[in-house]
Amino acid sequence: MSIAVPTLAERLARPEILALCPCDVAGAPLPGTVRLDANENPFGALVAGQPGINRYPEPQPAMLRQRLADLYGVAPASLWVARGSDDAIDLLVRAFCRAGVDSIAVVEPTFSAYAQFARIQGARVITARLTDAFAFDAEAVLAAVRGHAPKLLFLCTPNNPTGTLIDPADIARIATALPETLVVVDEAYGEFADAPSLATKATGNVVVLRTLSKAYGLAGARIGCAIADPRIIDIIARVSPPYPLPTPSIAAALEALGPERMPVHAERVRRLVTDRDALAARLAEASDVERTRVGGNFLFLEVADPASLARRLSAAAVRLRFRPNAAPGGLRITIGTEAENRALLAVFGLCAEPRPTRRAEIVRDTKETRIALAIDLDRPEPRSIDSGIPFYDHMIDQVAAHGGFALTLACRGDLDIDPHHSVEDIAIAFGQGLRQALGDKRGIGRFGFALPMDDASAEVLIDLSGRPFARFDGSFASLAVGGLPTEMVPHIFRSLADSLGAAIHVSVKGDNDHHKVEACFKAFGRALRQGLAIKGRGDALPSTKGLL
Ligand code: PMP
Repeated sequence: MSIAVPTLAERLARPEILALCPCDVAGAPLPGTVRLDANENPFGALVAGQPGINRYPEPQPAMLRQRLADLYGVAPASLWVARGSDDAIDLLVRAFCRAGVDSIAVVEPTFSAYAQFARIQGARVITARLTDAFAFDAEAVLAAVRGHAPKLLFLCTPNNPTGTLIDPADIARIATALPETLVVVDEAYGEFADAPSLATKATGNVVVLRTLSKAYGLAGARIGCAIADPRIIDIIARVSPPYPLPTPSIAAALEALGPERMPVHAERVRRLVTDRDALAARLAEASDVERTRVGGNFLFLEVADPASLARRLSAAAVRLRFRPNAAPGGLRITIGTEAENRALLAVFGLCAEPRPTRRAEIVRDTKETRIALAIDLDRPEPRSIDSGIPFYDHMIDQVAAHGGFALTLACRGDLDIDPHHSVEDIAIAFGQGLRQALGDKRGIGRFGFALPMDDASAEVLIDLSGRPFARFDGSFASLAVGGLPTEMVPHIFRSLADSLGAAIHVSVKGDNDHHKVEACFKAFGRALRQGLAIKGRGDALPSTKGLL
């Protein structure tokens, strides 16, 4: 007779959790069933735009679990969706640590919630430290925990607040050296680091935490997850409340993680990292800044006189976090918007670039299309276009390339029906983005024109006047070019004129329709380049009206 050997999850879990029966929850609201099992109110909530919130949500929302599993490259059974990674930390501590008996280990200075949740649970906290230069020393960590057998060891990479990155080889070594400890790798800021995620390596005694609060802009929705061996996930599930995730948060997460949103998320992360590094370089010039470090979407500074800085921050109503436990003059600064970063520089007596950059983001969803785009008129790159129609991608890319601006645009539309909706809605959203990025239009050259030639020739005249008008002179012999219906070409320029608020005159001649279409878009890009360019001092309005 064979005796079942307890699994790692069973050996480490609190015995009372193992003995617990799973929560008694109402059944899934399957279509066609009469749901009288959850003491809910049968009438819809008196809240606009929130269908279904009179009902309890799914305990683990299957679609979101699958989406997160896809995002992190793991199986849904290896992932537990929690109310932020804070909640995942708390669930782990409650599932594995007995009050007064068990311990966790942390590597200070680090995120305070690990020790906080452990103390609430009555678990001891064993402390290792980063080196004086805030480097991670695996030997020092192993030496600090030796003999304590902590149930959980929390490793944060990039570390909050020091930005320290932990080498995955060190994590593997520690996980091997401590086989009876769950090594919990908190990758809350992983998207901002130039380092691979350990999510797909979260097996055995390695657990990975991820969150939508940072890179995906959903801190208020409270969505994060733990990724681990399914047997560990099963233990975490036992301590979870029955319906932890609010329905609006589930919906927000699914919406924000739509495939058409992902390029804009990636672009935002790139931008935050660029802004972070630029800000660090500027702040290093300030007389009272002794050291700057970067990590995640934040900076870690050491300043000579924190009390004086605190007074100046308070006077300017700028909030950041002092971290004296990490270093006497230590403080953590989150990277903000351009305006917020300017306010921060001002507190340090530094001035920002004279002109804010002209950027815009547009999210436009209809029943037919879902579009997300980011534009930066003052940078030539990146350009990433995914309309679902490769030839249209190429045309829009021509506009951005010849216009000299950065454009990230993705659309998921009903191409199975016809390209019409996607083509038109992208033109509308693109025009809206250009208009928003132009802002008050101060300094721009109002009129643009171009005459590029192939066998075809196109001329585009633009007046960024705020008054929509479109004229298209020309015709095409073919019905479509590269999947783009040619009848849509004049329509695209009309949609752009309407949403950009511009007069756009296009005329095109030639033999080859591919060349003719391409010439129109290139010429439009060239005309835009001239129209958008900042002229002279950059603060004049190119109109005698004083308003555009
Ligand atoms: N881990 C780290 C390292 C953090 O800095 C934070 C938030 N400050 C969290 C986890 C918690 O994030 P959330 O609960 O929003 O997912």
